[in-house]
Amino acid sequence: MDFLCLEFINSRWFARRKPFEDPLEQPEWLTRFCEKWDLPEPGTDAATLDVLRGLRGLLAEAAAEFRGLRGLSARLQARLNARLEAAPFSQRLEAAEDGRLRLGLVPCNRDPAWFSACVVRSFALLLTEYAPERLKCCANPECGWFFYDESKNQTRKWCDNACASLLKVRRFRSRAHPPAAR
Ligand SMILES: [Zn+2]
Repeated sequence: MDFLCLEFINSRWFARRKPFEDPLEQPEWLTRFCEKWDLPEPGTDAATLDVLRGLRGLLAEAAAEFRGLRGLSARLQARLNARLEAAPFSQRLEAAEDGRLRLGLVPCNRDPAWFSACVVRSFALLLTEYAPERLKCCANPECGWFFYDESKNQTRKWCDNACASLLKVRRFRSRAHPPAAR
């Protein structure tokens, strides 16, 4: 399952690895992201970039705090609510692509505040409408990729096979060559 909020948070993964290019600094990435999720393009100036990085950091902190728990600190909750409250909207009954009706949200202003609110709303929906216990972070401590565990028994630990095999190799090596006793 694809979540807007997780794709946004995980963009930091690319910024930390070679060639260390932050997707938020790449206009093409932002354009694709906004098209995919039907968001207004927030802009590419330095001030906007700061806002986006702040939002990503806030969500990563909230995702890390929430993982395995049932709540968020009042401080984080207030910071998330501030982003939601900054973007007023109305509601409208409209036809979806499959011909069914859906209840759509119509922003009062399709501006950067709406962009932020949509990302936070996606995170809030994951915690409230989906199965929040399935929100996980890759077990490779150097990875930090967040994902929604859709495995039947909720046993998925890694973001992908690369991280899984890396850790298995490490565990095997530490068993094969236990540290010398002192
Ligand atoms: Zn990983």
